[in-house]
Amino acid sequence: MRIPVIAGNWKMHKTTEEARSLARAIRDGAAGATHCRIVLAPPFTALTTVVAEVKGTPILVAGQNVHWETKGAFTGEVSIPMLEEAGCRAVIIGHSERRQYFGETDETVNRKVLAAVKSSLTAIVCIGETLAEREAGRVHDVIEQQLAVGLAGLTDRDLSHIILAYEPVWAIGTGRTASPEIAQEVHRAIRDWLAREFGDEEARGIRILYGGSVKPENISDLMRQPDIDGALVGGACLEAESFLRIIRYNAAGAGGK
Ligand code: PEP
Repeated sequence: MRIPVIAGNWKMHKTTEEARSLARAIRDGAAGATHCRIVLAPPFTALTTVVAEVKGTPILVAGQNVHWETKGAFTGEVSIPMLEEAGCRAVIIGHSERRQYFGETDETVNRKVLAAVKSSLTAIVCIGETLAEREAGRVHDVIEQQLAVGLAGLTDRDLSHIILAYEPVWAIGTGRTASPEIAQEVHRAIRDWLAREFGDEEARGIRILYGGSVKPENISDLMRQPDIDGALVGGACLEAESFLRIIRYNAAGAGGK
């Protein structure tokens, strides 16, 4: 059974005080929501504040990035033990903005993923093609390459520490969402690849989130797709009202898939 996940990536938004009030509003507005897991990924400086605000609730807090080493001379980086100590339960790895602006590659993603699966953190691993790659008909090649390198060396058991996020780069922050059918087609291909590499049972158990201009208006149609198990939300998670409407994608409360 795959319990859906709705995760909010706050990116470089929210001072500590702003983060406190957003986390509080989400916590209060989502009280009693059991149909999905909620994950909040604030900036590093606000992690402990957000953890304190959601303490005692099922809401999980995630880092937006992590280094694969536990400590060392890596100015500006944060390690897995640091995230764990701050109260994080998850970490986003390989977001397209990290790849695009900060030189992350499938190889560095893999080092981070291998470190994360040995820890208490769930790794939310992002993959997705650019517009040029889609227009060149290379979506499946690109996705398979990102999966093959990014997940290299993982065991079947390690997969249970992973959530995948399919985020077509052309849909992130652009207002241009993949149609539910396009997203479903890629999610299905990802699950088929996982089944070939790790086995049917593992592939059936892993959650694959969609990310890319998810909004209250499009979440329900996306969530109706059989292989879409939740969303990684950017812009629309910065206001409690819109993020809560996304969390309530199924007012009746859906179960897992
Ligand atoms: C993201 O940053 O992961 C994202 C999907 O952003 P947005 O929802 O703003 O497109």
